[in-house]
Amino acid sequence: MRQLTCTGPGTIEWRDVPEPRLQGDVEALVRPLAVARCDIDLFLTSGLFPLRGPFALGHECVAEVVELGDAVRGLKVGQRVVVAFQVSCGTCGPCAAGHTGNCAKYPVLSDYGMQPLSGTEYGGMLSDVVRVPWAAAMLAPVAPQLDSVALGSVSDNVLDGYRAVAPHLAVSPGADVLIVCHGLKSVPLYAAQTAVALGAGRVDYASDDAEVLALAERLGACPLRTDFEKPERRYPIVVDAGLTPAGLRYAIRATEPEGTLQTVSFYAGGDMPMPLGRLYTLGIRFFAGRAHAAALLPAVMPLIEQGRLRPEEVTTRVVDWEDAPAAYVEPAIKLVVRRP
Ligand SMILES: [Zn+2]
Ligand SMILES: [Zn+2]
Repeated sequence: MRQLTCTGPGTIEWRDVPEPRLQGDVEALVRPLAVARCDIDLFLTSGLFPLRGPFALGHECVAEVVELGDAVRGLKVGQRVVVAFQVSCGTCGPCAAGHTGNCAKYPVLSDYGMQPLSGTEYGGMLSDVVRVPWAAAMLAPVAPQLDSVALGSVSDNVLDGYRAVAPHLAVSPGADVLIVCHGLKSVPLYAAQTAVALGAGRVDYASDDAEVLALAERLGACPLRTDFEKPERRYPIVVDAGLTPAGLRYAIRATEPEGTLQTVSFYAGGDMPMPLGRLYTLGIRFFAGRAHAAALLPAVMPLIEQGRLRPEEVTTRVVDWEDAPAAYVEPAIKLVVRRP
């Protein structure tokens, strides 16, 4: 079968690889129908993380079930599903606690399409067939009326944006929210859309990028053009989404005393300055950590079915499957690749 493969920094091609097969009775094989480019993919393909040889690309997708193990219940061949991007069993201690991104059965960062991070190749969604080792735990059915392309990013970036604000708005209903976007493209936009949908008081969106500010405004947020020097005011809930020390510093300064600062940034490389003294003095609660895909899907899918979250409004480019190699390295806030 064909698999979109990154062979070096900025070099992407279709490669022929063996088609995966079922290896157990709780597994599934799926055929990806729509694959979205995660915000981290451009960093993976650029070589920001050291490459460990060629790797399969793509980890956000809607797929069709093509084969199921004998013990899988509640799913049918031919059904469309969102595939959690992290491999997780659903029953170990961490999975049962909702921490499916840290499943005890796998090493940390066991994700599709991210072999440079984990060192293990689980396959990528820009392939004809993908093996899902725990079908019941990792697959969420897609309602018939929903469009596959619209849901391309739900298995990662959409739910990452959701979890950045939903738990904090549950504690402080109607609170004002500031999203600080300094390098991540789509996750902060999904966070803004979620904050509006969940009834935040005011949703402000700080960025130096005119294109994302215009899109944030269409989602119902108030755009704040900034060079990340000094925030205009403070907020009870702040989301940090980016890459730069200046952006993080701005997010911290914009968090009010006893407020909540949630980062969705991966901060590759390590040495990000963090003013712990300020956080201590002001009582700012700082939340970091990856999203837990399989655990979040049951919360996010109903919001999409109800039309309260509309991920398609963040999509800025859709290309056909054949055009994936070129499109995958070109800039776009949110790219979705669709199978004809
Ligand atoms: Zn991702
Ligand atoms: Zn597990």
